[in-house]
Amino acid sequence: MTNQNVVMSNGGGARTDSWVDSMRASSPTRIHPFPSISPDQSSWMVRHPSALDIFDEIINASKGKQIVMFLDYDGTLSPIVDDPDCAFMSDAMRATVRKLARYFPTAIVSGRCRDKVYNFVRLAELYYAGSHGMDIKGPSKGSKYKKGTKGVFFQAASEFLPMIDEVCKVLLEKTQSTPGATVENNKFCVSVHFRRVDEKKWIELIQQVKAVMKEYPQLRLTHGRKVLEIRPTIKWDKGKALQFLLESLGYANCADVFPIYIGDDRTDEDAFKVLRERGQGFGILVSKVPKETNASYSLQEPSEVMVFLRRLVQWKKMTLRRQFRMKRQLEEFAI
Ligand SMILES: [Mg+2]
Repeated sequence: MTNQNVVMSNGGGARTDSWVDSMRASSPTRIHPFPSISPDQSSWMVRHPSALDIFDEIINASKGKQIVMFLDYDGTLSPIVDDPDCAFMSDAMRATVRKLARYFPTAIVSGRCRDKVYNFVRLAELYYAGSHGMDIKGPSKGSKYKKGTKGVFFQAASEFLPMIDEVCKVLLEKTQSTPGATVENNKFCVSVHFRRVDEKKWIELIQQVKAVMKEYPQLRLTHGRKVLEIRPTIKWDKGKALQFLLESLGYANCADVFPIYIGDDRTDEDAFKVLRERGQGFGILVSKVPKETNASYSLQEPSEVMVFLRRLVQWKKMTLRRQFRMKRQLEEFAI
């Protein structure tokens, strides 16, 4: 849980209008892609430079270490679209992520349920952490990056499944009167999307959701980019999922690992924070507007994420080719 996340459990505490303000801040609806860069924007860019501009520095920092990639899905690999069921990633992005996984262990970490995010990405060679990391599974055929043959599978909140199902049904019914609200059952959590809800109706929607939440003190409510999230109160988040996956890959107490986490949402902040605390690797926030973040660097949108991932692949390919050539020269020299 980050301190940026407004938490409301048991229906009490935070006022509805401050919730709406906070929802607005994390869900910009009218983005002007830097028509002129404001002083705020430029000082933010100094603190969180573009990962493309300082690509060489990133590479130098990772020298001799194993890069492990963590990627959020919505707003990172796919654009935020009105209908969450249509948040498809492009074929070019899929091809890029496929190449990336050839060179680095790669995990998708999403708020969506694992099956759904897998159906969007459709790459069997990746690790998937769905429901904000509460449902983790490694590649079914095993991974070339993982020592041992034991597969990776972990569900942090299985006992909450019946409650989540129930709250999902109640929310569907209660939010019916708010046009555009969509309730998504993400197995271990529920998302109430407000991408298509008129801003004037946000207060009504948050009141409906809060009324339901009063009955479920074991669940907590947070919000992200155009989405309200209902999750079990257990201490598990995308940051914990990142740590779990690093351990599964054999990098628990390893100094030679360099995790890179790319995400656009408040829930990704938990992972950015873990990387800061570990002092290993770094987070990249995908955002066109300045936001309070624990990420070190920034990228503006999924198309820039794709360029960054391609450059990583290119760099790795060149490094391997150079190493191969040197090895051959040394062998020839020895003969
Ligand atoms: Mg996202």
